[in-house]
Amino acid sequence: MVVPGTAPRLSKMKICNMIDAMRAASRDCRGAGKRLGLVPTMGALHEGHLSLVRAAKAQCDVVAASLFVNPLQFGPGEDLAKYPRDFERDCALLETEEVDFLFAPGVEEMYPAGAVTYVTVEGLSNKLCGRSRPGHFRGVTTVVSKLFNIVEPDLAFFGQKDAAQLAIIHHMVRDLNISVQIVARPIVREPGGLAMSSRNAYLDPQQKKSALALYHSLLEVQKRFARGEQRPEPLIEAGRQVFAEEPAVTLDYLEIVDPDTLDPVDNLSRGALVAVAAFVGKARLIDNLVLDRS
Ligand code: AMP
Repeated sequence: MVVPGTAPRLSKMKICNMIDAMRAASRDCRGAGKRLGLVPTMGALHEGHLSLVRAAKAQCDVVAASLFVNPLQFGPGEDLAKYPRDFERDCALLETEEVDFLFAPGVEEMYPAGAVTYVTVEGLSNKLCGRSRPGHFRGVTTVVSKLFNIVEPDLAFFGQKDAAQLAIIHHMVRDLNISVQIVARPIVREPGGLAMSSRNAYLDPQQKKSALALYHSLLEVQKRFARGEQRPEPLIEAGRQVFAEEPAVTLDYLEIVDPDTLDPVDNLSRGALVAVAAFVGKARLIDNLVLDRS
């Protein structure tokens, strides 16, 4: 049914599996003077991803999403093979959001035999998750720069959920003079506060409750900061204490860092980033919060 006063949506989402097809489609759009937005994802979509799509729809004339489980950002022994995949469901969700293009290349299309070039943001890539996952951010920056070269978006949308990734991508775009505006969007959470993640699919109901330790640790840090604690160490200790009381969760790191350099901060001020990563069963989960006095 067409609601009076609205135009029916004529075209369905176009799926591009090949780089040439995606590039031709995006060049057509931009040639027609349209503002193009890109939402990069690894699929297994949830409301966090869809919030990025909605932001892109609001700010752009044409929206492309990409779906590529990037082998380069997984280390040996990590969950590449098990990573949740449901292409049909993802397509249906993106179609409902009226995404115009879905770029869903195969691994050989993105990394043909003989590819030997990588993009590394030096220094930052070894911090936070980069310390626990060597090579992870090199994989991210290599694939994101390839996506930018292929799609040539005017704007690209990323979630604050991956705060270190955002900082690293900002540096990459600035250092390599890539002509794209990065738009950061807030973390979308489950009703209880757990940050949405494709990896939450690994959790059983009990583990989902235990996983709240990540969010609760951030809230604990925020609460003490709001009460006037200025020193990072007691705040970090208070956050760690939450994990001490949740044996089903193994803390990887809890740090308070500058959101741009990802270096630990000595003097706390509004805007410092509290970042946490922890293992719950097979799942490695991350979360973060920006400190605020109010
Ligand atoms: P992924 O599919 O996990 O690679 O994530 C694709 C994009 O979605 C990244 O920019 C993430 O930061 C973003 N994202 C993932 N989870 C959330 C969330 N809970 N809230 C907001 N953005 C998210």
